[in-house]
Amino acid sequence: MATILKGARAAAALDEKTLAAISGLRARGIRPGLGILRAGERPDDLAYERGAIKRCEKLGIAVKSVVLPENVNHHALIAQLQRLNSDSSVHGVLMFRPLPAHIDERAACEALMVSKDVDGITSGSAASLYTGGGDGFAPCTAEAVISILRNYGVQIEGKRAAVVGRSLVIGRPVAMMLMQRNATVTICHSRTENLAEITRGADIVVAALGRAETLTAEYFSPGQTVIDVGINYSEAKGRLVGDVDFEAVEPIVEAISPVPAGVGSVTTAMLARHVVKAAGGAL
Ligand code: NAP
Repeated sequence: MATILKGARAAAALDEKTLAAISGLRARGIRPGLGILRAGERPDDLAYERGAIKRCEKLGIAVKSVVLPENVNHHALIAQLQRLNSDSSVHGVLMFRPLPAHIDERAACEALMVSKDVDGITSGSAASLYTGGGDGFAPCTAEAVISILRNYGVQIEGKRAAVVGRSLVIGRPVAMMLMQRNATVTICHSRTENLAEITRGADIVVAALGRAETLTAEYFSPGQTVIDVGINYSEAKGRLVGDVDFEAVEPIVEAISPVPAGVGSVTTAMLARHVVKAAGGAL
């Protein structure tokens, strides 16, 4: 039976360090604050926002939510971002994406100050991730993947990793972070030929393709560690499922993260950590 890589364990370890850093900040009269900017009422955003607020309240991080109508115009949205940029009680900003289609999303991302970009959406943050320098933050979900691997003591150095997905928010940053930790990384995508051959040959497989239960038993081999980032609603099962067919794959591999209760549970803990770090917390 595979080890189940539960997110709660990695999240608890992160929270413990975050709490210690918050008490250090308190002693200096600083209360860390998160600003949330949401345009519209997408159920996914609302679910994530609830989780983030709950985590922040538990840790003692103040939250300021700015909710805009879905038809908000570009200038009004940028003005709200600028307000959050200049608000000294807000140390980090989470802006939900995708933004409504009529908004220039890239321009909106770049309007955020890099020092408050706790979810790695600006090109300044990307530059620090890809160059290994600077103070920017990596996207929370991508860093949550690394956090689970570290928490369960999975060796990364020297190992072969296959990352399925090349989005800017997950696939690419995860691949970069694995490479920085000396894994040999193959980045796979929808045009990759012989995907199963590549994933079967890897020691670590990160599934971030956004396609329900697509990676079935033939994509895996014994001894592997599998991190499933996917969050998909299965009509047939009436619940959330990952990108990996968990029931078929779990008996084959060495370790696997579940969905739900895997990567998703670590993401808000990572967000809180980033906010506290942005506030000057010792982390
Ligand atoms: P995305 O932007 O849609 O990117 C999906 C990537 O997977 C693309 O690079 C795509 O290739 C590739 N892909 C799609 N179908 C494929 C296939 N059949 N074989 C190989 N590669 C394939 O998705 P994302 O934003 O990265 O999100 C990925 C998943 O993570 C989603 O299920 C999302 O809900 C989930 N997610 C989870 C969290 C969390 O906290 N756990 C947070 C955010 C997102 P091309 O580039 O060639 O199109």
